[in-house]
Amino acid sequence: MIDQVPCAQCGAPVSESSARRMNGLCISCKMKRTRTDPFHVFYNSLIDRVQRSRGGFDMLSEPEKLYFTVMLLRNEVNNGGFHQYFINSSGSYYGYTEKGLVALGATHTLDLLRQAKDILFPTISVPVNTELRRRVIPIVEPGAPAPEWANKLDELDRRFYADSENLTSRLKAFAREHRFVSEQQGADI
Ligand SMILES: [Zn+2]
Repeated sequence: MIDQVPCAQCGAPVSESSARRMNGLCISCKMKRTRTDPFHVFYNSLIDRVQRSRGGFDMLSEPEKLYFTVMLLRNEVNNGGFHQYFINSSGSYYGYTEKGLVALGATHTLDLLRQAKDILFPTISVPVNTELRRRVIPIVEPGAPAPEWANKLDELDRRFYADSENLTSRLKAFAREHRFVSEQQGADI
């Protein structure tokens, strides 16, 4: 049975894993809030610039790069763990993600990221090329017992979800500090 918790806004039942991804909200409350959330609007504008502008990621300012890559990490791990972060194109920004976590003072999360890196890439640096990364990263065969590396990675995911240093609050503080959102917009969110 799936553990359910009440939506923080309307009280409708939400699965624990969805609630974790959606700040404790059900899908409809999440969508309503997202449309107007200045942090989300800004993040979407970054995605747009990275995907649609000619220079892509390189055209972002340095603080924007740091913010963007830590947001990618947070979203990927919340969605499918560290394994998904490295499998997807987000893992191409590993170097910036490390720098971003340093800038946020998120040393515990940085430690988890580096441990995950050491499990999946024990002898090489993280390949920037996504196809190359996918060739190197081990996968669990369906139906096969979880190998030791997968159990270790699961443990890191669990520690990430415990969020002992409140990564999202740090991201928001960083966004305010760098005027990605106005003080007023970002004040009570
Ligand atoms: Zn709701």
